[in-house]
Amino acid sequence: KLFNNSISVSKVRVIVRVRPFLGHDNGDPVSCISLLDQDFESQHQEVAVYLKDPQTSRNECYQLDSFFDKEDNNVSKIFYREVNPMIPVIFSGCNATVFAYGATGSGKTYTMQGTEEQPGLMPLAMSMILSICQTTGSTAHISYYEVYMDRCYDLLEVKAKEISILDDKDGQIHLKGLSKVPINTMSEFQEVFSSGVQRRKVAHTSLNDVSSRSHGVLVISVVSNPSDGTGSHVCGKLNLIDLAGNEDNRRSCSEGIRLQESAKINQSLFALSNVIYALNNHKPRVPYRESKLTRILQDSLGGTSRALMVACLNPGEYQESVHTVSLAARSRHI
Ligand code: ADP
Ligand code: MG
Repeated sequence: KLFNNSISVSKVRVIVRVRPFLGHDNGDPVSCISLLDQDFESQHQEVAVYLKDPQTSRNECYQLDSFFDKEDNNVSKIFYREVNPMIPVIFSGCNATVFAYGATGSGKTYTMQGTEEQPGLMPLAMSMILSICQTTGSTAHISYYEVYMDRCYDLLEVKAKEISILDDKDGQIHLKGLSKVPINTMSEFQEVFSSGVQRRKVAHTSLNDVSSRSHGVLVISVVSNPSDGTGSHVCGKLNLIDLAGNEDNRRSCSEGIRLQESAKINQSLFALSNVIYALNNHKPRVPYRESKLTRILQDSLGGTSRALMVACLNPGEYQESVHTVSLAARSRHI
């Protein structure tokens, strides 16, 4: 019984979100992704996602934890079902992580940041955390950084500055000198965060938007006011990550710096998948040190931490979707 409880604590949930067809998508809008089956009976409630190439009739099927189709295009549903349950955990001193994973153009940034009319998981989580802070007298701070070519850059500094990673003797990870800005209201959050988003767009080179080739990490940390009057503070954090696009190298013909970037991206996404696989399958050794990204997340993946991976898909792209879902399903595999 005890063992079962610990499984449910460290398990990383892997869900799929299919974005709708958009005006600029090429070709016939034939969706290649559907929900085949849902099993709510088994102990591990799961769904079967079916992918079929309309051109060649090739097909694949993968088991995942949940499925949000394009007809159901409201991120608040994902928020309430999947992210909101993690939030109390942060106030009790544990960490949690939400990743958006998928090819460029599949809807990762839309899912995490969203728009003014459709706020994504980042503002929805911030808003929920602020309302809990208000009722409990806790305080919230944010940090925002990106991991590009295995280096970390603080995006809340006027000029995006490189920061180094230190791990202390209790295995806690510290990003040395990373800015941490106190947030009391959503308008403060919008102001601070959007300046970071702007910086991410123009960092590294003024010519190219590299935002889809770096991992963008928003950290919301809370310091709780203990209700038992002991005076000790409990700290927890939620990492919300817009991962770099996982392009299939065999299909894209990058060269030079683009090739180096995509090699680093694939290496870090593969390392992430290996870490999640090791956690979900209770491997004795979890390979956190294989990339910067997994090293930074060492205190937020595994143990008592909670994590969610949202695999984002473009319904008109079969090969690309198979690439995303197969890696997602591989990390989940139990
Ligand atoms: P990514 O970050 O994965 O490269 P984006 O989030 O930028 O992809 O999405 C690509 C385009 O699709 C954007 O124009 C975005 O507004 C649109 N889009 C993505 N997901 C949705 C959605 N669920 N509903 C409506 N439009 C979406
Ligand atoms: Mg993006």
